[in-house]
Amino acid sequence: MAPYALPDISAVEGVEAIVLAQNEHAFAPSPAVQQAVTEAIARGQLYPEADWNELRDAIASAHGLDAERIICSAGSMELMSSLMLAYLGPDSRLLMTEYGYLFMRTLCKLVGATVDVAAESDYVVDVDRILAKVQADTRLVFIVNPGNPSGTVIHNDEIRRLRAALPEDVLLLVDEAYAEFVEPDFHSPLFELAETTNTVITRTFSKIYGLAGLRVGWGYFPLDIYHQLRKVINPSSVSSVSQAAARAAMADQAYAEQARGQIAAQRDFLSQAIEKSGLRVVPSQTNFILVDFESSQRADSAFEFLRQHGPVVRPMGGYGLPGCLRITIGTPEQMQLTAATLSEWCRIADD
Ligand code: PMP
Repeated sequence: MAPYALPDISAVEGVEAIVLAQNEHAFAPSPAVQQAVTEAIARGQLYPEADWNELRDAIASAHGLDAERIICSAGSMELMSSLMLAYLGPDSRLLMTEYGYLFMRTLCKLVGATVDVAAESDYVVDVDRILAKVQADTRLVFIVNPGNPSGTVIHNDEIRRLRAALPEDVLLLVDEAYAEFVEPDFHSPLFELAETTNTVITRTFSKIYGLAGLRVGWGYFPLDIYHQLRKVINPSSVSSVSQAAARAAMADQAYAEQARGQIAAQRDFLSQAIEKSGLRVVPSQTNFILVDFESSQRADSAFEFLRQHGPVVRPMGGYGLPGCLRITIGTPEQMQLTAATLSEWCRIADD
């Protein structure tokens, strides 16, 4: 196996790199989060609370959920790993969509499971195409909504339709790492599916809450799966400092809401500027956009041109999209520089 590929974010000599390659938050954690971290470090000699009780209560009260169904982890990647360990083996198949999160393919290799892939329709998850690919030994269906690297969203009613049409014993895993970026009135939350069906919903503090470096994810589980997962998950993987930071972030919803508005404004600005330059931008509801350069040569050339000017974006060859680049939304200054540099690249490339 090859190691899971992280992007090369190295700078060009003499140029300050602006890393827009990992869908990290544009802003530092809020003052309330920084204060909570400072207070927690003073008790750093103690192990973290194994049941994440205060953090689970904060999440449950912000979302109106049952705290007993929540499991926290070192990023949502850890939850996915544990779920694969508990549920998949060499005799099982996982079904995911064309541009679903690549890490899942690595996990399937680790546990020996077979991966089936359902095509998307113009970068959008297509429920009918997923259903057409379900086989007798499909154990788990995995979807990412909003998608990464597409940034597109399907309505949660579509996910309810998928759930209703899947056999009951097929576990549905919905990765909602970017859900908080979606306009709240676009879709109602999906959590009740985990209370009534064989469905797991995962979320993360890495994106809208800006805690990627502190590694906190969480999931909402049917009770039987919750108990199975507690057998395999590392109970001490979320440090006390990270738990305190996540608790403070969850309590500060106003900060997240403000960030959502700021990111959306910058996303719209960059998308429109790039479209004006004549490139296609896939409509995104997240903190990143996928730009189609129509050929790998053009995408490689734009990547290098951007890098020479500072912005380091993400090549998409690993996703089978060598003609595309994914750009994380950053601060207004970063987005102005990115837009101007790309417009300059278009002028030179089209000459
Ligand atoms: N799901 C998706 C779609 C992601 O893009 C990422 C991180 N880039 C994750 C899950 C994992 O995030 P984390 O482990 O930081 O919660």
